[in-house]
Amino acid sequence: MAKEKVLIVGGGFGGVKAALELADDNRFAVTLVSDHPSLRYYPTLYRNATGGSRANSNIPFDHIFADKKLTVYADTAVSIDRKAKTIKTASKQVLEYDSLILGLGVVTNYFGIAGLEEYSYSIKTNHQAERLEAHLHNQLREDGAPDLNYIIVGAGPTGIELAGALPSYLHKIMAKHDVMDRKVNITIVEAMPRLLPRLPKDVSRAVRRRLKRLGIKLLLGESVQGQTAGSLIVNGKPLASHTVIWTAGVTNNPFFSDNHFVIAGRGKVAVDTYLQTEDNIFIIGDNANTPYSGLAQTALYDGKFVADNLKRRASGKDMKSYKAKRPVTVIPAGPHWAAVVWGKLHLFGFAGWLLRAGADFVGFHDYEPWPKATRQFFTESQVEEDCVVCNTKANYENA
Ligand SMILES: Cc1cc2nc3c(=O)[nH]c(=O)nc-3n(C[C@H](O)[C@H](O)[C@H](O)COP(=O)(O)OP(=O)(O)OC[C@H]3O[C@@H](n4cnc5c(N)ncnc54)[C@H](O)[C@@H]3O)c2cc1C
Repeated sequence: MAKEKVLIVGGGFGGVKAALELADDNRFAVTLVSDHPSLRYYPTLYRNATGGSRANSNIPFDHIFADKKLTVYADTAVSIDRKAKTIKTASKQVLEYDSLILGLGVVTNYFGIAGLEEYSYSIKTNHQAERLEAHLHNQLREDGAPDLNYIIVGAGPTGIELAGALPSYLHKIMAKHDVMDRKVNITIVEAMPRLLPRLPKDVSRAVRRRLKRLGIKLLLGESVQGQTAGSLIVNGKPLASHTVIWTAGVTNNPFFSDNHFVIAGRGKVAVDTYLQTEDNIFIIGDNANTPYSGLAQTALYDGKFVADNLKRRASGKDMKSYKAKRPVTVIPAGPHWAAVVWGKLHLFGFAGWLLRAGADFVGFHDYEPWPKATRQFFTESQVEEDCVVCNTKANYENA
């Protein structure tokens, strides 16, 4: 019997999970197309920018799919031909499907604010995180002093975890660069009146207290109007800085509007109870208009959900209806401290930190067998920097 051709586009949390679930099932011929050769483990990307191991936030597909029966292409999907049931890629491949799973993730949105794209930093990819880290070091090397202000725009989880990691990291690298230790000014700018606006108020308050203890300044209810080479314009006033990190906006992948998908709330793709947007086209993770889309756990859940349904359908059973699952939110804020929102349970401090470490461990195991996941987890304690000064010093000290 001919195998059902399942084409998965996007090798992120959702797409990779769906591929893993379907790869060894003989009823399916699975192909994964992704424009990046590894799974970006976004939750630990902020550590890439602050001296953490690159490997910790990057799991190559060769590791994940070793011994799995599927075809993987490094390519970018450009268009869809619904009649012919094909996807065309940037390298002009035409890939056929019987069932299509789209999990392309989101892209950065600067809301058209002048100067941001040109001058700001970001931590949405490994490359961007490493670029920020290199900038922090270059500045100390070239100016012999820290920046006047380090500004993070966006008081969501990404902005907070990065802000929390910065003070200790900056002091550490100032010492390595023999720069006189002094106070560093770190500010979070947020347009909403409170930080973590999507989470309960007591969580915002606890994280706010924690950030204050770390010496981080908060500008809440203030909006960014532009950026120049040396400043960020906030509410009409320039704030001097060469280090502005934009974490404040994302928008759905342009593939969907370019290819005339039906868009629902928040710019996400409209889906039915099977996460289907059209016959045999399934949308997962950040792209789908579901209550908790925008989180890694949701993408993973969606990938498994669609894979399970395809298996059910291949067995002649009815597909199950989607039930959105409220994810556990864990937000680290500085060394050994995290806020956890687990339904009605709100936990802060070291216990939250331990829970986050456990979540990462389990998170890696979602994509790799235990021995590999364990190795991946322990890369967390490794230090990795590209700075000539720091590396020369480390080599000298270790000699
Ligand atoms: C810095 C950061 C920290 C985060 N921290 C957390 C956290 O702590 N907890 C949490 O739950 N969530 C977190 N998130 C959100 C989480 O990472 C996303 O919700 C999750 O990655 C969504 O999974 P996905 O499969 O939908 O998309 P993604 O994981 O983004 O994967 C999409 C993949 O598709 C590829 N792609 C895009 N366009 C194309 C194309 N046209 N053709 C081929 N391939 C394409 C992309 O390169 C990418 O590899 C964080 C996000 C960021 C940016």
